[in-house]
Amino acid sequence: MKNYVILFLISTMSLHHVITAVETSGLSDPKEIPVTTKNPEEKKIYPIAIIGAGAAGTMAVKRAVLNNNEVLLFTGAKQARRCSRGNWVRKIDNIPGLGKYERPILELRNEVLQELTQSPLSHNLYVIEESVSFIEKDIDFFKLTDGTGRIYCAKYVVMATGIMDEQPRIQGSIDPILKYANGQTIAYCSLCDGHRSFGKKTVIIGHSESAANIALLLLEKYQLTSMTILTNGKIHEFTPELLKQIQNKNINILEAPIKEVLGNKEQKQLTGFVLENDHAVEADIGFIALGIRPNNQLALQIGAQVDESGLVITDLNGESSIPNLFIAGDLRANSMKQIYTAWQHAVDSIQLINQRIRE
Ligand SMILES: Cc1cc2nc3c(=O)[nH]c(=O)nc-3n(C[C@H](O)[C@H](O)[C@H](O)COP(=O)(O)OP(=O)(O)OC[C@H]3O[C@@H](n4cnc5c(N)ncnc54)[C@H](O)[C@@H]3O)c2cc1C
Repeated sequence: MKNYVILFLISTMSLHHVITAVETSGLSDPKEIPVTTKNPEEKKIYPIAIIGAGAAGTMAVKRAVLNNNEVLLFTGAKQARRCSRGNWVRKIDNIPGLGKYERPILELRNEVLQELTQSPLSHNLYVIEESVSFIEKDIDFFKLTDGTGRIYCAKYVVMATGIMDEQPRIQGSIDPILKYANGQTIAYCSLCDGHRSFGKKTVIIGHSESAANIALLLLEKYQLTSMTILTNGKIHEFTPELLKQIQNKNINILEAPIKEVLGNKEQKQLTGFVLENDHAVEADIGFIALGIRPNNQLALQIGAQVDESGLVITDLNGESSIPNLFIAGDLRANSMKQIYTAWQHAVDSIQLINQRIRE
């Protein structure tokens, strides 16, 4: 399914609004980095640096330390963490064993860092609780400048900075949707949360082909009570063939802008939407299908090749067009945006790096 493409420039310009809206939503990041490690030296060339400590970064740092390689881990400053998908993931149903976590990716990161700092290989780990703000390549190593201006060097880099979902604006703000997103009555990923729509009144917010395909998929699989597509003021971009399928399934397409989200905010339970023409739509669950914003600023800075969505193109081992720069997780082009995929990327890349270090 094709992602709706947001140009990098537009995504950079509107990033500020995402951060602001999240910060004013009253939600706080419950988990700060739980460990303190030794300070890395600025002039030394470390074998591996990992940028990002979400699903991919956490697996990469674990594998690298277990391989007994020294590794710099940049977790991202608070704002970078809030602009990554991993920060907002709630209960996970599609991976064995993860259902018990409330904030799975943050909790797993914390568990892994705690384990590693208590292991006999802990001397390998340097956690830097900052974002990388600049990356450049010297002859055969990378220079990484963090948010405080410190420069660190590494021979190999695994970039795992992830992506963010585009949010709908309702009366100019993304706030009305966020509480329900945290309660999982607004969702972003049909593979992760599609089953939550079983037997429910369901709404898709989106206007691209991807929105239409998700509507058809959920209707086919989950015995929905109703399915409505809200384009929120946009004109739909469905092909004639898709439109015919949508009409054959009696899926309503409503193009008026959304005026209000209805529900019990305290219990994070969605009940529906009111449109600007005062038409009300009942909904127990909504799926946002507005596309993604890759956190690809560093990749673009260093000149790595990206696809039309801004995701970084790599070979099968995750190496980008810049030798020794590996991409793991959601930021990698042509791969599923899932936790288990991020884990596999991380292991593949770190194992190849380990092999090159041994050579
Ligand atoms: C609502 C929701 C529910 C989901 N549910 C599921 C599910 O049930 N099952 C599933 O498999 N997947 C699920 N996913 C997808 C899953 O979250 C992602 O596939 C996964 O988090 C990708 O891992 P990642 O490491 O690429 O990115 P993330 O986990 O998003 O991590 C990115 C990291 O990069 C860091 N960062 C960003 N910029 C910088 C920088 N400049 N310097 C340093 N660090 C930086 C951030 O701080 C963060 O630590 C869900 C996603 C969403 C949004």
